[in-house]
Amino acid sequence: MSAPEEILAAPPSPRTERFRALDREMPGFVAGRAVGGSCFACYRPIGEGGRVDVVYRDGRMSCAKCLATAVTRISKGRLILQDVSRVLRDAGGLDFDGGRWVRLELRSQEQLIASSGCSYAPLPWGSAGVSRDDDGSGATVYTVNVLYGLPQTMFSPLCAHELGHVYQVRHNFPKLDNAVMEGLCRLCEYVWLKRDGSTTALSQIDGMWHSENPVYGTGYRAAYTALRGRRLVALMEDVRRLGHLP
Ligand SMILES: [Zn+2]
Ligand SMILES: [Zn+2]
Repeated sequence: MSAPEEILAAPPSPRTERFRALDREMPGFVAGRAVGGSCFACYRPIGEGGRVDVVYRDGRMSCAKCLATAVTRISKGRLILQDVSRVLRDAGGLDFDGGRWVRLELRSQEQLIASSGCSYAPLPWGSAGVSRDDDGSGATVYTVNVLYGLPQTMFSPLCAHELGHVYQVRHNFPKLDNAVMEGLCRLCEYVWLKRDGSTTALSQIDGMWHSENPVYGTGYRAAYTALRGRRLVALMEDVRRLGHLP
């Protein structure tokens, strides 16, 4: 898909250059300048301070602050994924081999909705999948799909979350209750955020703990309580064996 007409037609300015650069990074994702509404990621009002806010083709609007660290390139996303997988190994005991066998894809909101079919998450920001490689080798491919344009502070824990799903699939977990499955993945987020330790990360942990969502909030609190100070891999092993939280 080529750059939107309005971007191509606009006279060169820092703003149109920014749009063009974004469009080169991920063709077809940026639709133009956002006007009105609020940021899909942080809910701030769009257009404050006359800075560059964008609207993506799937209708999401991003504020300039979130755009500043938005993950719009696979190469940047892969570096973060590698970081996250190292932390999950060192702090949680979950080995992803540095993320080498995990494929990363950046997706639009529409693509994620179409591929997830998850009734308890109508607007997913990520998903994880497993498939056979199409190169004829028949190798198993694990894919982490993340919403295009997430700011880095949200992209990183989301990678941790989706790696939690990958871990469960790769280690042949039995069918789990949704709250148990998602609770374990939220614990992966927790491990990353705890290691990060920034003010933002700590408030994200607080947000997870106080979430009223019956799957993600309840699931996280139950999984965290079941940890009892152990490393995450020990709890994962219990759940794999039992089919539920210990
Ligand atoms: Zn924002
Ligand atoms: Zn999940």
